[in-house]
Amino acid sequence: MTPRVLVTAGANGIGLVMARAFQDAGYRVWVTDVDTAAVAAVPEGIRATVCDASAEAEMAILFGDIAAEWGGLDVLCANAGIKGPTAAIEDMDLAEWHQCLSVNLDGAMLAAKYGARLMKPAGAGAMIFTSSTSGLFGTPFRAPYVAAKWAVIGLMKTVAMELGQHGIRANAICPGSVNGPRIDRVIAAEAEAKGMTADAVRQGYAAGTALKRLSDPEDVAATALFLASPAARMISGQAITVDGFTYNVDP
Ligand code: NAD
Repeated sequence: MTPRVLVTAGANGIGLVMARAFQDAGYRVWVTDVDTAAVAAVPEGIRATVCDASAEAEMAILFGDIAAEWGGLDVLCANAGIKGPTAAIEDMDLAEWHQCLSVNLDGAMLAAKYGARLMKPAGAGAMIFTSSTSGLFGTPFRAPYVAAKWAVIGLMKTVAMELGQHGIRANAICPGSVNGPRIDRVIAAEAEAKGMTADAVRQGYAAGTALKRLSDPEDVAATALFLASPAARMISGQAITVDGFTYNVDP
């Protein structure tokens, strides 16, 4: 049977590249996103619907639709995430804190909750959560994002323990800085704050990695494909870093 994958936040950025990679590998692919224009522009052959990953009612409907149309789900990529505010902890706004946790963490939990209900009866499945190197090292002035991405790893490990006996594996991918519009925005903001050029900030990010380059979304997508595949059948509960080995976050 053709394997089936859902990618949340899959209409742009890393999620869209993941979706294309799964499509190229022969999967049936369903993406969801809140960006309605991007959902409408998703390449042919990929099922795309609007859904807020942090809204339980919308996620319940989405998984109901997947059950009705596909009859199950083999791979879940819980990828929804927003950057959240950049602020010193003493200036942290509680509403912005909650919003960041809501998309990054509630979104991952709801995907796992409804994904488990679909996968358990089949006795098989792979869940892949998009965390971040921020969920391993921390990032100054990004407390809600960091807290959420650490929590996603804890969620993933718990899910792996609960669902392993049902043939379901759970892992997280921790990308470093990934080329694309999102990192361009992060770099531009940092350059402005530090009075540097964007190129200098970008070079600093690359210099802090062993491989001296930023990741591409394709690097993250290739890892997701591997984690979804039978080749990874004994890998569960792991947070896999895809960042060229960041060893100096402030070079
Ligand atoms: P992006 O900004 O390019 O795309 C994010 C997508 O998420 C957009 O399509 C947006 O519409 C969608 N989205 C936002 N809120 C949503 C919600 N509530 N429900 C559903 N969709 C929603 O970002 P990206 O770089 O592709 O990031 C994807 C994931 O990778 C995120 O979880 C992010 O935290 C993580 N990540 C990114 C980087 C990086 O450098 N880009 C590094 C580490 C981790």
